[in-house]
This record gives sequence, C-alpha cells and structure tokens, in this order.
Amino acid sequence: MKSDIKLIDGSGKRLDGRTPDELRKIKIEAGVLHRAEGSCYLEWGNNKVIAAVYGPREAIPRHTQNPLRAIVNARYNMAAFSVDDRKRPGPDRRSREISKVISEALEKVVIMEQFPRASIDVNIEVLDAEAGTRCAGLTAAGVALADAGIPMIDIPVACAAGKIEGQIVLDLGKEEDNFGAADLPVAISPRTGEILLLQMDGHLTLDEFNKALDLAISGCYTVSELQKKALLSKYESIMEVK
Ligand code: UDP
Repeated sequence: MKSDIKLIDGSGKRLDGRTPDELRKIKIEAGVLHRAEGSCYLEWGNNKVIAAVYGPREAIPRHTQNPLRAIVNARYNMAAFSVDDRKRPGPDRRSREISKVISEALEKVVIMEQFPRASIDVNIEVLDAEAGTRCAGLTAAGVALADAGIPMIDIPVACAAGKIEGQIVLDLGKEEDNFGAADLPVAISPRTGEILLLQMDGHLTLDEFNKALDLAISGCYTVSELQKKALLSKYESIMEVK
C-alpha cells in the first residue's frame, strides 16, 4: 500500500523512534494459567498474546491419530476486540493459515515419537494486535510448550524483518507493515539454526532477502534469550517459595 507517511526520518529513526535493527519492547511471563499444562503471556510492542498448551492427550477425532507419533494442533485466534475494526469472531482463512504454519513449525521441534496417537494442543489467543502477531504467537507457544514439560529438541522462536522506504529493518510495527514494501516472518530452532517457518509478503531482491533473513534470525536469537529468562524466573520463584 502506498502512503505519504514518512516511515524513516532524516536521522534514520523509525516512527516509534527505533533504529533499523531494534526490536519493539518484549515482555514474557511463563505459567500464567492454572488449568493449562503450560502457558505464556507475551507482550511484543502493543501485541498481547496468550499461549496455552494442553496434552499430550488422546487425539480426537480418532482418525487424526498417528499410531507412530503425536500431532501438534496449534490454533491461532484473534479476539474480535484485538484490532481497530472489530474482527468477526471465529476462524477465517488467515487464522487457518497461521494455525497451519505454526503447527508445522512446532512439529519440527517437539519429539513426537514419544507420544503415539496423542495430540498436543496449543491455543494462541491474540488479545491486542499490532503487526507481527504470528511471530509473537509462535514465540509464546514455544515458552508454553517448555512450561508444559513437552520434550523438544529446542524452544522455537520467531521474529520478522522487512523493508520500508528501501531499507531493511527489524520487527515491523503497524504502520510499517501497512505501508512498507515487504515483511518476512521467520521462526528458527536457535540451537540447530534450522528454519521452522519462513513466509514473505511483498517484494525483495535476492540481496535484500538475504539481508532481511539474517536480520530476522539475529532478532530470533535476542528473543530466545528472553524466552529462557522467563522460564528461569518462573522456576526460580517456585524454588524460593519451597
Ligand atoms: N489485522 C487486522 N485485522 C485482521 C487481521 C489483521 O487489523 O483481521 C492487523 C493486525 O494488527 C495484524 C496486522 O494486521 O497484526 C498484520 O497482519 P498479518 O496478516 O501480516 O499478520 P501478523 O503480522 O500479525 O503476523
């Protein structure tokens, strides 16, 4: 979408004052819901997301069961009140797509063979949305899975980079997403470096793509440290009580 909005000012600062390689403010809390096996509340800029993990439990309907391994069933939902124009409640094409790509990303890190015929259900609820909710949701899901004690090769993490006014920048905000030239959400397994999710909206040259990918991956490593801190601080507080 074209606009007259200036997304980068003369001194190289973005609309919210960030430098090109700066993330929005991120806050992560593990274990916020008592009924879920594992959960996470995450704020990323003005995005507010909850992830809740249930299971492993018998996959229902039974025809979805795999006798050799578990399935990960992620369900991304955006609350009607999470966006400026009220969103019609219930699943739509966008939320089905996001649920599918997040499920596939999580299946690459969960050790699925340990739970034949089971389903690991990951509910992601977006309470407040301001661009980058799939990355925020996947990152929260990673913490919630770890909090649930689900065996994984690693804690998955996501971050996006994009292009605004000809420049590659980290973690697009709302106006940047609306009026920028491209958005590249990426999820990785930080330990192995494997890419778990890669999507692209807009146009990038090969050079720009490589630069954006490197920047998004470096953002993932920064967010990964915050995930670990959130999990550590939950378990440290449990130890203090005991
Ligand atoms: N959005 C909206 N209404 C919708 C869907 C999306 O206002 O029905 C906004 C919301 O702020 C979201 C942003 O558009 O975060 C970008 O959506 P996109 O599909 O690119 O996914 P995201 O960047 O959130 O992963």
